[in-house]
Amino acid sequence: AGAEAARAGLLEAVGQLSGGVAHDFNNLLTVVLGGLDLVELGLAGDDAEATQEGLEQARDSVGRAARLVRQLLAFSRRQLLDPRPVDLNRLVAALAAPLRRVLGEAIELRPVLAEGLWLVELDAAQLEVVLLNLALNAREAMPAGGRLSIATRNTRLDAAAAGPQARPGAYVELAIGDTGCGMPPEVLAHVFEPFFTTKEVGQGTGLGLSEVHGVIAQSGGHVRLLSTPGHGTEVRIYLPRLGGDDEAEDGTEQA
Ligand code: ADP
Ligand code: MG
Repeated sequence: AGAEAARAGLLEAVGQLSGGVAHDFNNLLTVVLGGLDLVELGLAGDDAEATQEGLEQARDSVGRAARLVRQLLAFSRRQLLDPRPVDLNRLVAALAAPLRRVLGEAIELRPVLAEGLWLVELDAAQLEVVLLNLALNAREAMPAGGRLSIATRNTRLDAAAAGPQARPGAYVELAIGDTGCGMPPEVLAHVFEPFFTTKEVGQGTGLGLSEVHGVIAQSGGHVRLLSTPGHGTEVRIYLPRLGGDDEAEDGTEQA
């Protein structure tokens, strides 16, 4: 039932997505046309400045349209998952250097990796995209710098902790926390919707968190968001422990 609900959610997201992309793409084409009009005027009036401005406007919008299409492709590609057993500690350790490059000097990356972490089963390439999306959001939420922590731990969710959306059981938690601007409740309520963004046109596509949600749901996991305006945001990803909840298997104590 969980997988079916995830698939239904995915289909709905893809449906909303194609409509939204067409709209955004069309807007960008309008801007390209406006730029070309300007070029035409500039050429006719021998106005080199207008010509240059028109060319830049057109090139800029074509670049944005290309980015939009790339993200759309990434979004649809997630249907081709290649799930394998993964140690999230290893994956995070391997990603630390590229993530530091993305975050820049002003943001400190702090991995906190629990010992004896259970394995999970997922497509590692997809999880890398997830972490990149979250790092980019964090960077945008901390323009003046700050700290990004990435913490792993084993945890068991009972029925109350799992809530109606998730199954109780053994999970690996991957928590990504920033010290950025945070989100008010009215933003928080919509962030998983494709194309929801508070960023300027052309700056955000609004696809990041919906992709995160889709990838994690397809791996049988779920995502929780905690955010305090002015203080920061924590994204908690729960992925089911590979092999289920067999406590005898490795003797790991309950967290
Ligand atoms: P985008 O980044 O393109 O806007 P996302 O789906 O990644 O799209 O995020 C949607 C919105 O959620 C953002 O526009 C922003 O308002 C909010 N958001 C996401 N991550 C964070 C964060 N770490 N801190 C504050 N706000 C965030
Ligand atoms: Mg984003």
